[in-house]
Amino acid sequence: MDSNPKNSANFKMKHKYQWHLTRWKLVSLFMVVFFITSLLMAIYLATSRQQISTNYTTLVDEIVRAQLAAPNLRLAIEENNSQRKTHDISHLKNIATLSTQHLNRIQLKLFNKQQLSNDIIYMQDNFSNLNENLASLQQQLETAEETQFIPASLYNNAVDIEENLKWTYSTLIDEVHNASNQQRLLMQRLSIAVSVLLILVISAAVTLCIAVIHLQRQRNQMQKLMLTDELTGLYNRRHLVNVAFAALTQAKREKTSLSILLLDLDFFKRVNDTYGHPIGDEVLRQVSERLRQCSRPTDTLGRIGGEEFCLLMPATHTHDALQVAERLRREIESIALKGLELNATPTVSIGVTTSNGGSFTFDELYSFADKALYQAKELGRNRVESVLPPKTSNFDNIEGAYTHSVIH
Ligand code: GH3
Ligand code: MG
Ligand code: MG
Repeated sequence: MDSNPKNSANFKMKHKYQWHLTRWKLVSLFMVVFFITSLLMAIYLATSRQQISTNYTTLVDEIVRAQLAAPNLRLAIEENNSQRKTHDISHLKNIATLSTQHLNRIQLKLFNKQQLSNDIIYMQDNFSNLNENLASLQQQLETAEETQFIPASLYNNAVDIEENLKWTYSTLIDEVHNASNQQRLLMQRLSIAVSVLLILVISAAVTLCIAVIHLQRQRNQMQKLMLTDELTGLYNRRHLVNVAFAALTQAKREKTSLSILLLDLDFFKRVNDTYGHPIGDEVLRQVSERLRQCSRPTDTLGRIGGEEFCLLMPATHTHDALQVAERLRREIESIALKGLELNATPTVSIGVTTSNGGSFTFDELYSFADKALYQAKELGRNRVESVLPPKTSNFDNIEGAYTHSVIH
C-alpha cells in the first residue's frame, strides 16, 4: 500500500501552481486591455484638449459687434459730406480707431484659438490688407484734419474697408460656427469613447470575476475528485493515506493512541452475482452512507477497495475502537436498504488494530488490521477481531478480549 503522501502532495502543488498561472494570465490580460484603452483615451484627450476647452461664445459676440459697427465710418463720412461739416474729422478718426481696435482684438483672440486660427489661414492676406488700409485711412484722416477737407480717395478707402470688414466678419462667423460644430462632435465622440471604456473596464472586470469563480469551482471540483470516491462520495484511498500519515505523526508526537478499522462486506460477490452489479453498487452506496452517519466527526472514513472500507480513529484506544467496530457491525447488519429487496441484509467483518504512540507506519498498521480482518473472515464473518502490534499488548489489550461472537 502506498502510504507515501509525496505523490499526492506533488499533484496538489502542480495544480496550485497552474491555478496561480491562470489567475495571473487573466489579471495580466485585464491590465493590458485597461492600459491600451486608457492610453488611446489619453492620446485622444491630449489631441482634442485644445478644441474642447475653447469657448467661442465671446468671440462670436465680439465679431457680431464689429460687424454691426463696420458701416459706421462710411455713414459718418456721408453724413459729414451731406451736412458739409468739415470740422468733425475727429469723430471720423474715433470711428476708424474703434474699427482698428475691433479688428486687432478679434485677430488676437483668433490667434489664441489654435484650431480656428489653422482653419482661417487662408484669410491671412485679407487681414494684412485690412490692417494696411486702416493704417492708410488713419493717415488720410490726419491729412483731412489738417486740410479740413475729405477727399474722394478717403471715402473710397472707407467704402473698401467696410466691404472688406463685412466679408471678413461674416466669413469669420461661419468659420466659428464650423469650429463650434466640430467641438460638439468631438464632445460626442469623447462621451462615446468614455462610455466604451467604462463598458470595457466593467465587462473585463465582470469577465475576470466570472472566470475566477469558474476556475475556483473547477479547482474545488478537481480537489473533491482527487479526494473522494466517485461511487460512494467517501474519501478515497489516497486521501485516507495522507490523513493517516498526518494522524500517525501527531499520535507519535503527542504519544496518543490511534486505532484503525478495516471493514469488508461479507460475500459481496454473491450480491453482484444474484442481483447484478448496479444493485451491488446501490448496496455499496447505502452501506457507505450508513457507515458515514455512524462515524464520529473526528474519525476519517474512506473506501479503500471494492467493498472494503477503512476508519481512522485518532486518540482512540483499542477498547473504544472495538466498541465502535461492534456498533458499526450491528448497524450494517440491521440496515434497511431503501428501494432494494434482498434475501438477506449485508454483513460486515471488521479488523481492528491500535498504535499506542508507537513508531509504526500506516502500511504496518494496515497489515495488522488486515490480519484481524482475515481472522474475522476465517471465524465465520460478521464479526470483529483485533490484532495489536507487538510490544503494545500490555497497554490496553487483554488476551482474547477482541474475539467477538458471530451474531445471527
Ligand atoms: P468475503 O466475505 O470473503 O469478503 O467475500 P466477497 O465476495 O465479499 O469477497 P471477494 O473478494 O470474493 O469479492 C468482492 C466482490 O466485490 C467482487 C466484486 O464483484 C465486488 N465489487 C468490488 N468493487 C465493486 C463495485 O464497485 N461495485 C460492485 N457492485 N461490486 C464490487
Ligand atoms: Mg468481501
Ligand atoms: Mg474484499
